[in-house]
Amino acid sequence: MNLILQVEEVSVSFDGFKALDIKYFELEERELRVVIGPNGAGKTTFMDVLCGKTKPQTGSAIMADKDLIKLNEKQIVDLGVGRKFQTPSVFGSLTVWDNLLLASKSNRGIWSTLFHKPTEAMRDAIDRVAATVGLTRHLSSVAAILSHGQKQWLEIGMLILQDPKLLLIDEPAAGMTDEETEKTGELLLELAKRHSIIVIEHDMEFVRQLARKVTVLCEGRILTEGSMEKIQNDPEVIERYLGRSKRRDENGQPVAAVTAVGTKHG
Ligand code: ADP
Ligand code: MG
Repeated sequence: MNLILQVEEVSVSFDGFKALDIKYFELEERELRVVIGPNGAGKTTFMDVLCGKTKPQTGSAIMADKDLIKLNEKQIVDLGVGRKFQTPSVFGSLTVWDNLLLASKSNRGIWSTLFHKPTEAMRDAIDRVAATVGLTRHLSSVAAILSHGQKQWLEIGMLILQDPKLLLIDEPAAGMTDEETEKTGELLLELAKRHSIIVIEHDMEFVRQLARKVTVLCEGRILTEGSMEKIQNDPEVIERYLGRSKRRDENGQPVAAVTAVGTKHG
């Protein structure tokens, strides 16, 4: 088993309020891990720590013999960590192709990237990524006319072009239609063949589709980890998270009702 990430004793306090308190967390190479938990559990803060946006008061996060906590955001990107935030931030007035071109690994600045011919290797990489994220037919459309789901996929594609070893993806399915959500699940499973991925998600149907190891965060701490089956039968998880069946998230979606993760019968 090869670990890509080992997190120990990481704590983050905001004005004395402990938002994150992780004793131990590890991720294997090419693992796709799902992090769930109620609003305010510290999920986004965890990703903020891993990408260098927030510095914890204590702890370490070791990747490739380096401690991410001692590096700045740029150094963490260079080490191979790609972060996808909740809201898509693509260039709406540029085409899908140009967005992908700008994200491609190159030593050129923005203007020379846009106005010089891309190398064949860059074009091949863009075509491959566009196919992976299902945007081949939209390469010449301006990004502004894409659906919300397609914008999210474009941004994931832009991340992939940086060829990160570890991808951090915060609530990709938020605001998506059921069909887009399912496609996103398929995309993550495909990407997990080449990358390690941590994905935060609220939508239990989506989590079940991924069918991977789940980490439950609650009040900053890891409540438990394991298969979906283990999680949904854990009395503490049911009591503190899944049992809150009437809760809605910021998109008005029901949050993790027990019935929505009911065990299969028969
Ligand atoms: P989640 O993503 O699980 O919903 P967050 O990580 O966003 O939770 O937030 C965890 C807790 O930390 C929340 O109580 C939130 O209000 C608080 N918090 C997050 N970021 C900040 C910040 N920059 N300053 C103060 N409090 C914060
Ligand atoms: Mg969050």
